[in-house]
Amino acid sequence: MRLVALPAFQDNYIWLLCGADGAAVVVDPGDDAPVRAAMAEGIRPVALLLTHHHADHVGGAARLQAALDIPAYGPVDDRIPGEVQRVGDGDRVDVPALGVGFDVMAVPGHTRSHVAFHGAGHLFCGDTLFSLGCGRMFEGQPAQMLASLERLAALPGDTALCCGHEYTEANGRFARTVEPDNPAREAWLARVGERRRAGLPSLPGTLAVERDANPFLRVDTPAVRATLAQRLGQAPADRAAAFAALREWKDGFTG
Ligand code: ZN
Ligand code: FE
Repeated sequence: MRLVALPAFQDNYIWLLCGADGAAVVVDPGDDAPVRAAMAEGIRPVALLLTHHHADHVGGAARLQAALDIPAYGPVDDRIPGEVQRVGDGDRVDVPALGVGFDVMAVPGHTRSHVAFHGAGHLFCGDTLFSLGCGRMFEGQPAQMLASLERLAALPGDTALCCGHEYTEANGRFARTVEPDNPAREAWLARVGERRRAGLPSLPGTLAVERDANPFLRVDTPAVRATLAQRLGQAPADRAAAFAALREWKDGFTG
């Protein structure tokens, strides 16, 4: 199985999980052009997985489906038009051409109907969990989004984290501000820097690294709580309040 990240727009990734014969699952084709370019190189899409309704994740899906006559799987949300097989928490998507199956997880927060797909050691989680960060909370509540992130992070530590955007280095700058002393994060950022300087995606990372380094998964650690208490002038009331304060801070962070 081969994993490919196709860059799209400014900083999106369209993920391909490919078998030996070029058969590929395509995740979040916000644009069809990069997928068509990959097809010219021997990739043969057999199914589309859609994590959430934002245009940068679904914009190319209908055109690919019309051209290729392949199934698309996505959340129950009428903001995703077209012939989409609707899936929700606990469902399974089987892709016989690749011999893999994906478990569907409902992960509300970035949007209310956001789903993630976990299979073959890979997690495709759209704009919910990013390396060293998380998505903006457009349609959810803090406790809900935190629960979504923690469900993802509880998957096996060696799971490959395949996120929707290349935000790792920018997220790292915020993480450093929140938790200055974190050797696991610094080790990861050093690898990320090497990959980026070589013109490669920072991703995939692993969930084990995120658990040790991502501030949004570390709201219970004394260091993160202390930073928040100092910033807020008082300790956050509970872990959801800590997460909310962190997310709000990041929304306005420009460092
Ligand atoms: Zn989004
Ligand atoms: Fe996005």
